[in-house]
Amino acid sequence: MRAITIRDDVLRYRDDLPEPIAAADEVVVDVTQAGICETDLQLVRGYMGFAGILGHEFVGIATSGSFEGQRVVGEINCNCRACPRCDSGLGNHCSKRTVIGIDRHDGAFAERIAVPQHNLHSVPDTVTDDEAVFVEPLAAAFEILQQVKVADSDRVAILGDGRLGYLCAQVIGSSTRRMTAVGKHRLKLDRFARIGVSTVNLDDVDAEPVFDVVVDCTGSVTGLPLALSLVRPRGTVVMKTTVASRHHLSLAPIVIDEITLVGSRCGPFDKALAALQERTVDVSDLITHRYPLEGAEAALESAAQHDSFKVVFDVQSNGA
Ligand SMILES: [Zn+2]
Ligand SMILES: [Zn+2]
Repeated sequence: MRAITIRDDVLRYRDDLPEPIAAADEVVVDVTQAGICETDLQLVRGYMGFAGILGHEFVGIATSGSFEGQRVVGEINCNCRACPRCDSGLGNHCSKRTVIGIDRHDGAFAERIAVPQHNLHSVPDTVTDDEAVFVEPLAAAFEILQQVKVADSDRVAILGDGRLGYLCAQVIGSSTRRMTAVGKHRLKLDRFARIGVSTVNLDDVDAEPVFDVVVDCTGSVTGLPLALSLVRPRGTVVMKTTVASRHHLSLAPIVIDEITLVGSRCGPFDKALAALQERTVDVSDLITHRYPLEGAEAALESAAQHDSFKVVFDVQSNGA
């Protein structure tokens, strides 16, 4: 099987990997398309110490089980479904969980992937593969509204002008129109401006603590200190960034200003699928680059470039 692996922080395309073996509760999915996200770039830098097949954002076709023959997307947390946390609805925090393409479970930059059937959601006919490949990060954006109440009078700052920031802006846009995106790239900020978000270049930011909610989607250790400088006393900072390196910052201002820090990770797939189906979120022009699996290195390099937005693998293409 063709797939992209990392081991000891080395990325490799391989065409000699064994087919995935589905466990009792798993289904093999023929991957159609898989998206590269910031987490993948961090994993290559050593985040989580992951070894195996990379990739966790995918759409494909289930080859067995109750979704057989259907287009599906898959949640990435593989939970035990038996422990007290799973029983209490905190399956995404199951202490025995593995995570597809991130933690001890092979990922989706592969022709086929084994996924717990319970994790699968069928994709409505009106949602294209190019849209469905965004369900996982879009669900992560919807997680914010599960965690934080955003009022229509709230001022929200989105830090980071990339993929996740843009999805967060669209999702939070259903609660407030008072949003500002902070980024480094004019081209990317223009995308936010087109959906009515005010934009400001990072170099021109007034470090005034005026925002009720600040969402850090920078993918950088510099994001959290900036967020803390922009949030008002008793405001909320939503942390959407996971990085391989460590933070060095003073925590005293969090106490003094009584800031609420909210870690935010995976979210509700049903809400993301519904938003795509109802066209309340638009991801139609976000894919800027497509690669076959053979183009692993070029694809990940491209995903880190400033002129790219979403980079995907067309998995069934062989580059010929
Ligand atoms: Zn991701
Ligand atoms: Zn569990």
